Amino acid sequence: MHKGKTALVTGSTSGIGLGIAKAFAAQGANIVFNGFGDMKEIDAIQADVKEQFKVKTAYHNADMSKPAEIEAMMRFAAEQFGAVDILVNNAGIQYVANVEDFPVEKWDAIIAINLSSAFHTTRLALPTMKARNWGRIINIASVHGLVGSAQKSAYVAAKHGIVGLTKVTALENAHTGITCNAICPGWVLTPLVQKQVDARSEQQGISIEAAKKSLLSEKQPSGEFVTPEQLGELAVFLSSDAASQVRGVAWNMDGGWVAQ
Ligand code: NAD
Repeated sequence: MHKGKTALVTGSTSGIGLGIAKAFAAQGANIVFNGFGDMKEIDAIQADVKEQFKVKTAYHNADMSKPAEIEAMMRFAAEQFGAVDILVNNAGIQYVANVEDFPVEKWDAIIAINLSSAFHTTRLALPTMKARNWGRIINIASVHGLVGSAQKSAYVAAKHGIVGLTKVTALENAHTGITCNAICPGWVLTPLVQKQVDARSEQQGISIEAAKKSLLSEKQPSGEFVTPEQLGELAVFLSSDAASQVRGVAWNMDGGWVAQ
């Protein structure tokens, strides 16, 4: 579906971002990877995607908390492949503490990485998308873009913010071939969530498996994790012609979390 197009996925060296990058590569899109990690592992990911899907890939190590590095990444993507047709704002971090104990530098980092980075990539991608009258911007929000949970003030604020940014970007481009939508996952078993599982196992003195079950049972009625592959398929749908009138939505894939 996307042969010759370019998809840039922030935070795609791991977890959901990697799942989404692979889903777009399976559609023939060239991929610009971004995110942290061991360079050997990142090279291996790129080699695997090139080999498996016969697409081109590139990697930029921009730190999503730094606007100048984001600008450099967007210039790099344009130099490599001409433009970014599909932008997936996925990079994100989590920190858990009550508001009065929340470290100020963690608040600033979460707002910068989980929210402001999407403003920067979007403002930089739009001019070329407008010139071509085609583009897909997909923001990976969270169920926490729709509802709150205790001890996640910065994350919930950033995710509600990105849902707002999604709506405004969609409206400003409503008469064009550019759509902007958000995906709101429930629990997905990635390194970000594994940390919370490990903490629960330690705090409650229970096994890792029991901690997973306890985490899911609190919020996710299906009792199962959402997978990066399932989220990749939803992102591909939102980028399809069939979804050209899906604009400004915050679409949850959450095992029933928000239905409660
Ligand atoms: P993850 O920790 O597996 O991956 C995060 C990615 O972001 C990694 O590639 C990491 O290197 C990158 N990253 C982190 N800080 C960065 C920075 N400053 N600059 C550039 N890249 C950076 O996490 P994940 O669970 O795959 O999360 C991906 C997105 O999905 C996040 O926005 C997260 O909030 C969201 N999300 C996750 C879940 C879940 O249950 N895992 C649920 C809802 C939403």
